[in-house]
Amino acid sequence: MNFTVGFKPLLGDAHSMDNLEKQLICPICLEMFSKPVVILPCQHNLCRKCANDVFQASNPLWQSRGSTTVSSGGRFRCPSCRHEVVLDRHGVYGLQRNLLVENIIDIYKQESSRPLHSKAEQHLMCEEHEEEKINIYCLSCEVPTCSLCKVFGAHKDCEVAPLPTIYKRQKSELSDGIAMLVAGNDRVQAVITQMEEVCQTIEDNSRRQKQLLNQRFESLCAVLEERKGELLQALAREQEEKLQRGLHLTRPSLGSGASGEEEEVAPDGEEGSAGPEEERPDGP
Ligand SMILES: [Zn+2]
Ligand SMILES: [Zn+2]
Ligand SMILES: [Zn+2]
Ligand SMILES: [Zn+2]
Repeated sequence: MNFTVGFKPLLGDAHSMDNLEKQLICPICLEMFSKPVVILPCQHNLCRKCANDVFQASNPLWQSRGSTTVSSGGRFRCPSCRHEVVLDRHGVYGLQRNLLVENIIDIYKQESSRPLHSKAEQHLMCEEHEEEKINIYCLSCEVPTCSLCKVFGAHKDCEVAPLPTIYKRQKSELSDGIAMLVAGNDRVQAVITQMEEVCQTIEDNSRRQKQLLNQRFESLCAVLEERKGELLQALAREQEEKLQRGLHLTRPSLGSGASGEEEEVAPDGEEGSAGPEEERPDGP
């Protein structure tokens, strides 16, 4: 209720109508949304047909895949904000319709078809024939022109077509082009994402390799350190043994000198002791 109350004055002046119309333009076909209108998760709207165009352009294999048992519905990016839209197995038919926008379009069309709001039809007039409307298109010169120019004037030998036909054709070409660009953008974005993932993987791998290298060298160092300790100990033991042996070699010579003295002393002592003993028996 409140909505319609606020809406009526809005529709009142032509400027607001223009603003409203801009809000109701599909970014793909550049026309006012045509029903059914679907709303994407990012809250942007598209004609379902246009959503399908964008989706088909970004997923060229989807239809053939759809016939197999693959249940995933594919994905595309919102042409307005690039938010990724993931579809279920119904494809764009699984997207929610925006009934509010559809209703607004209905009301808008009703309102603008009233004589009060119908815009004064603006027609470009031929520069040469001021009474003639520009209503045909010269295909040879690729310019819009008037019927008189075709019959008598500058374009009398040219190939022409009705302006509305060419307008529609060029508009649909443009809109196809936009859909292709949006899809191309999606693919480029996908490649960029892939490259970013590759970079991330490279960074991760390199970090892990560095860690591994550090660990290995640390354990190698530990082993070397341990080995060094063992070798130093062995060296010390060997040094000790050799010193001991050296001492043994020098001590026996000291010992033999001492024993020689003892031998010398001992006979003396024996003689000395034996002497008195011999003397003692001799004495009594
Ligand atoms: Zn559209
Ligand atoms: Zn969006
Ligand atoms: Zn003319
Ligand atoms: Zn021409």
